[in-house]
Amino acid sequence: MQRFDFDLVVIGAGSGGVRASRFASLNYKKQVALIENRRIGGTCVMRGCVPKKLLVYGAHFAHDLQDAVGYGWSINQANHNWAKLIEEKNIELGRLESVYHKILSDAGVKELEGTGKLLDQHTVGMGSSSITAEHILIATGGTPSIPNISGISAAITSDEALDLKKLPKKIVIIGGGYIAVEFAGIFNNFGAEVHIVIRGDKVLRGFDNTIREALSNAMKQQNIHIHSNQSVQIVEKIEGMSEMRLTDGKLIDANILMCATGREPNTHNMGLSENGVELDDKGAVKVDKYSKTTVDNIFAIGDVTNRVALTPVALKEAMAMVETVYGEKRVSVSYDNIPSAVFSVPPIGTVGLTEEEAKERYNIEIFHTSFQPLKNSLSKRLEPSVAKLIVDIETGRVLGAHMLGTDAPEIIQGIAIAIKAGATKEQFDATLGIHPTSAEEFVTMRSPDPQ
Ligand code: NDP
Repeated sequence: MQRFDFDLVVIGAGSGGVRASRFASLNYKKQVALIENRRIGGTCVMRGCVPKKLLVYGAHFAHDLQDAVGYGWSINQANHNWAKLIEEKNIELGRLESVYHKILSDAGVKELEGTGKLLDQHTVGMGSSSITAEHILIATGGTPSIPNISGISAAITSDEALDLKKLPKKIVIIGGGYIAVEFAGIFNNFGAEVHIVIRGDKVLRGFDNTIREALSNAMKQQNIHIHSNQSVQIVEKIEGMSEMRLTDGKLIDANILMCATGREPNTHNMGLSENGVELDDKGAVKVDKYSKTTVDNIFAIGDVTNRVALTPVALKEAMAMVETVYGEKRVSVSYDNIPSAVFSVPPIGTVGLTEEEAKERYNIEIFHTSFQPLKNSLSKRLEPSVAKLIVDIETGRVLGAHMLGTDAPEIIQGIAIAIKAGATKEQFDATLGIHPTSAEEFVTMRSPDPQ
């Protein structure tokens, strides 16, 4: 039998890579090495979900303070210290990083610092050294993709936006996806002047239209400037400011220009295609439903495969891959009804089909309601909330649930269980509401929208 240094070498210590390493080591007693060239925790923990959510929490106090006044509190002076927020956030990331090192070491995973490159089917190089393994897992994630615009090197991405030394007075964000609307909400709540430039007419392409419209309106109501049907043509740096020309000829300037124009898989210079691991036209690793690449002993999970770029999906893919390779049966991941959230202001929770997707496959009824949360009745702060259900007329099954409003991500997580279990509208109606909450709207919508 051929002997290798390790049973499994994982390249990339983001959420997916860490989970696969620990699971293989703890549950299957495999010898695992984990290679990382930045910080353990990867995009989600170090440069994405976690630090972003901390800034979202910080930003939300702007509204909490406003609301408090309506409830009789006097807030004499509320000042925000941006540098302190970033410092506290970084301390927390440092703590999380130590926790990751500890759980990996406790699990017996060997951490290796460096950039992994495939040298052959069983060998991964790191600089001048190399290690061999029976199986290799590529979990290198993705990186912000920057459009090809003259002068765009002046722009930052979400990586830097999470670490700005001071709050910008004025920021322009290119893109209208998850990252763009989340950062627009953060910077706006902290008092920056925010502009976003989108190619379409509304933010969040691919989301349900009702939600897109509601968020676009809410953002405008909060004085976020949305430049729709526009692209940035050219960027120039003038006296420390970035000045951009849009398609309609308008010039806008900003202290900070940020690109939130999607992400691309981290597969450059990794020796993949040279060693038979095929990539698709976006540079993502091609895999089958068991996350196996075009080379039998090499697997890939998470954003590097460009399937569904969400942390919980990478975690599931990691577990499924390890069980497939070391367990008793092959396990694949179900990609139906994946819930997700956008931590915009207000936030969004969504699961299942959008109205537009459902219409193409089913005869549907729509139930929807728009309301102002009770909490805002005393503060008078306007914050639109929308809840929407999409129902298949033939079976009564709820095909999709979408919400924009306070706590939408928390609420939709529960609704997602019902939808995953195939719940019907009748079962939603038979469920008693919890009063008074926003969540009860999902079980009290009785009349469908007129067709
Ligand atoms: P998205 O794919 O969500 O959005 C990209 C945006 O950039 C779209 O508005 C797109 O416009 C625009 N765009 C793309 N290329 C160009 C270009 N050349 N010029 C101008 N605009 C352009 O990507 P994000 O970067 O926001 O996020 C990346 C991924 O990270 C998400 O897909 C998501 O999976 C994940 N993520 C998840 C979060 C969560 O779960 N809360 C939070 C943050 C990220 P158009 O619509 O016209 O194509």
